Amino acid sequence: MSNAIKIAFIGLGNMGAPMAANLLKADLRVSVYDVQAAPVAALAKLGARAASSSIDAVRDADVVISMLPTGAHVRALYLGSDADSEPSKQGILAHLRAGTLIIECSTIASSDAQALAQAASTYQVAMLDAPVSGGTQGAQAATLSFMLGGDAASVERARPLLEKMGKNIFHAGAVGAGQIAKVCNNMLLGILMAGTAEALNLGVANGVDAQVLSNIMAKSSGRNWALEQYNPWPNVMPGVPASRAYSGGFASKLMLKDLGLAQELANAAHNAQATPLGALVRQMYLLHNQAGHSELDFSSIAAMFGAEIGEAALG
Ligand code: NAD
Repeated sequence: MSNAIKIAFIGLGNMGAPMAANLLKADLRVSVYDVQAAPVAALAKLGARAASSSIDAVRDADVVISMLPTGAHVRALYLGSDADSEPSKQGILAHLRAGTLIIECSTIASSDAQALAQAASTYQVAMLDAPVSGGTQGAQAATLSFMLGGDAASVERARPLLEKMGKNIFHAGAVGAGQIAKVCNNMLLGILMAGTAEALNLGVANGVDAQVLSNIMAKSSGRNWALEQYNPWPNVMPGVPASRAYSGGFASKLMLKDLGLAQELANAAHNAQATPLGALVRQMYLLHNQAGHSELDFSSIAAMFGAEIGEAALG
């Protein structure tokens, strides 16, 4: 793809804003839209066209990239309604030209991705589900992993753009397969985060410093990404949400959503699978959300393990 292609980027939150910024850094033409004005204005300063609506953003677009919280948001954006429905003129799908490519990066149900791709195909528009991993640091550093579902031709069309935002680009299979890979990954991430927090709390409660214990486990068999890259204990690691009162990052409500998607997949009537740890950690995140921590980063689950961190650390 040449630099002349026109990209519409919709959804400029914790992930979308730095991803769009990386496309701009690569001198690509990007129009941006978010229901909130502030990130649109910030990206306009970096050279984006500030669109006045999602429909305005996709005017003349060759590629549409979306990064929204949930499947309901994605359906509302593309179809014009968050119910399962036919596309309407309120949605952007009805405004795309034949031949446009959609790269849908939000984490949503695989079945939602398949339904959207089906609706898009009636407009001769191709779609990839393209959920990501790597967190906000990965989005900023352009080191995200993309997990793609769709046909090989669309993957090759998207690749040069995805390489501006990520380092690892995996083709998981047909439409929806990217979302299945993502949900499996995030179920494991939730389990690792809760387990890491539980182990740190046990050590600290028995007099071992959280930093010392983290250093030991990072060089021992308990090592994992949550411990080494995203430590949940306050002030063990600079630059992570735990060291800024769990602000920014990946909201606990979004982790709860992903753990729910994993359970939906696990409970599918035609293909039920046992996921006891996934079910348990979903219950933990449900309690954590119900305790009022839904906007805090998901590493704040550490506060669930007794008084060692405590509510005070939650900002
Ligand atoms: P976020 O809530 O920070 O950002 C979502 C943005 O979408 C917000 O700015 C919101 O205003 C905007 N939005 C909502 N509806 C819109 C609409 N109709 N039109 C335009 N903009 C709209 O969420 P996030 O953390 O950036 O996550 C986005 C997606 O990526 C989620 O599905 C999440 O599960 C996934 N994800 C997040 C992370 C992370 O570390 N934050 C990592 C990997 C994947």
